[in-house]
Amino acid sequence: MKHNVVIIGSGPAGLTAAIYAARADLNPIVFEGVQPGGQLTITTDVENYPGFPDGIMGPELMDLFRKQAQRFGAETFFKNVDHVDLTQRPFKITVGNETYLSDSIIVATGASAKLLGFESETKLMGHGVSACATCDGFFFRDKHVLVVGGGDSAMEEATFLTKFASKVTIVHRRDEFRASKIMQKRVFDNSKIDVLWNHQVLDMVGDPKDGGLRQAILKNSNGETINYDCDGLFLAIGHEPNSKFLNNQLKTDDKGYILTNPDSTQTSIKGVFACGDIQDTVYKQAITAAGSGCMSAIEVEKYLETLH
Ligand code: NAP
Repeated sequence: MKHNVVIIGSGPAGLTAAIYAARADLNPIVFEGVQPGGQLTITTDVENYPGFPDGIMGPELMDLFRKQAQRFGAETFFKNVDHVDLTQRPFKITVGNETYLSDSIIVATGASAKLLGFESETKLMGHGVSACATCDGFFFRDKHVLVVGGGDSAMEEATFLTKFASKVTIVHRRDEFRASKIMQKRVFDNSKIDVLWNHQVLDMVGDPKDGGLRQAILKNSNGETINYDCDGLFLAIGHEPNSKFLNNQLKTDDKGYILTNPDSTQTSIKGVFACGDIQDTVYKQAITAAGSGCMSAIEVEKYLETLH
């Protein structure tokens, strides 16, 4: 059976594309991937998504997106796409040992924050540990927080966090930042921010059921370790676009973010569209992802008309 459109990914972009495509009677199918609901499912309160004046929990918001898409007939599967073959038409999508054929594809696989990879980090995520200051900074009013990293993201997160936190300490593994000079200057000029140079995070200490994160265990370049008291720890060591499964079939930038035409979600292959964080290196917000998901569905509808 051939589908009109297969949507890969289920964050705000993928599920908004599903709502619009379903309402356009395109009977979309959605493969939700390894993190159904996307990055919002690893945050707590979402306070900046319009329409929820009292805020909403990230996972709950994504359940609502999914229900809304299903209400109009979108079929959603908790399955992960392994490969796509964009050299043949209809396009071929491989999911485990199943194969699907589709006239168009919307890629909405997002990006994942790079993590350090400790067990404690997983346990304390959302309990003092975060990879998103915009999402979680508000919860650290008058607290002391660490920001790990030395790029523009770390500078931006640290500067943003000073709106809430009483003190922000950037922990960087080298003795200089790679961030742009202007972002560094903003950090150095901010009296609430200090820097621990040449320190790496070795582990995190705390109990999610008892106040969350309490300490970070840090190691300096002499190999000495310290238990450093803190209320929060923000990871800003980069994001990775989830585009590896595409096997370089679409044009991307050097980091792997899919390139789309200006004012469009059209990729380098006709009939394949990309929306949300997989193609956004600037805004990376749920609302902008949702907006671009809507664009993809409208563009798919127009594209399919050209086939008939
Ligand atoms: P990035 O530039 O790749 O920087 C990542 C930082 O994290 C580096 O300082 C790196 O250290 C550190 N790091 C990486 N892995 C680590 C690990 N395992 N342990 C400890 N530290 C680790 O990533 P980014 O800051 O997210 O920026 C990504 C891109 O977005 C950049 O091109 C940036 O310019 C852009 N951006 C721009 C803005 C803006 O202009 N407003 C804001 C955010 C991001 P080393 O330096 O030692 O490698």
